[in-house]
Amino acid sequence: MASQPPVIDLHTHSSCSDGTQTPADVVVSAAEAGVNVMGLTDHDVITGWESASVTGLRVGVSVVPGVELSTQVGGVSVHMLAYLVDPAHQELTTLMSTIRRHRDTRIQRTVDLLAADGFPVDYDSILDFVGPGVTLGRPHVADALVRAGRFADRNEVFADVLHGRSQYYVRHWAPEALDAVRVIQAAGGVAIMAHPFARARGRTVGVSVIKALVDAGMAGLEVHHRDHDAQAIHEAGELCRKWGLITTGSSDYHGAGKTNRLAENTTDPAQFDRIVAIGTGSPLMGARR
Ligand code: AMP
Ligand code: FE
Ligand code: FE
Ligand code: ZN
Repeated sequence: MASQPPVIDLHTHSSCSDGTQTPADVVVSAAEAGVNVMGLTDHDVITGWESASVTGLRVGVSVVPGVELSTQVGGVSVHMLAYLVDPAHQELTTLMSTIRRHRDTRIQRTVDLLAADGFPVDYDSILDFVGPGVTLGRPHVADALVRAGRFADRNEVFADVLHGRSQYYVRHWAPEALDAVRVIQAAGGVAIMAHPFARARGRTVGVSVIKALVDAGMAGLEVHHRDHDAQAIHEAGELCRKWGLITTGSSDYHGAGKTNRLAENTTDPAQFDRIVAIGTGSPLMGARR
């Protein structure tokens, strides 16, 4: 009897960034959802790898060490997934901590603007709540307003005061996407652009920008993602075929922070094998495949 192909979900978030579950609990949830290979891709931080790996061994999930870097091109946000990078690579660790530092001051300013208008939030209590080393983001501000009883859930806060055109929206510095791709490669990793055509999130980059990133070594596109409509999936899929790129699909799971369900989109095993073949910065973790 032929064995079932593995279920591969390459984009998840833990409480090391804006997910609501610990890395260990994300892996447990992945196992329960039937996921065999799970990428842990917190925003701009890799502190969840170790505990995800230990839990993966225990519950039989392979863990792909990853990170979702916040980058930009001409002020347009680009999320760059990086897999199998060397966690000790100096340029990469410096890049991540620089992004986190700018995210911190930006969230501080966001909170100050909200507080000045009477919203019951303050920066120190958010920091106390999330704990040290966590990549701060707007979801943490949303959670604080939910805890204060002002909104029902994250989504409601985003719709009202945290969306990109809100008077409370504050931008933060992010590296050039091209620079991030170079650093990911230098760290032995595989760069895959997350949700390239997620237009509902805000502005997205054009095809010429994607081509330039591919020429710089970006290896693939996350094609199957809930923020992509049929047209976006078609366009991204066509680019992958035309340029021979790796095609991924994933959930972008954030625990209870979003409605995204683990394995709601998955990556074809043959495509995943290409990532493993290219990535040299760190090994697969958790259970053996
Ligand atoms: P930031 O990285 O601080 O700019 O915040 C963006 C993050 O907020 C994304 O990575 C999502 O995880 C999350 N997010 C965006 N929109 C929503 C929403 N409507 N509901 C819940 N989370 C959201
Ligand atoms: Fe997020
Ligand atoms: Fe993203
Ligand atoms: Zn994500």
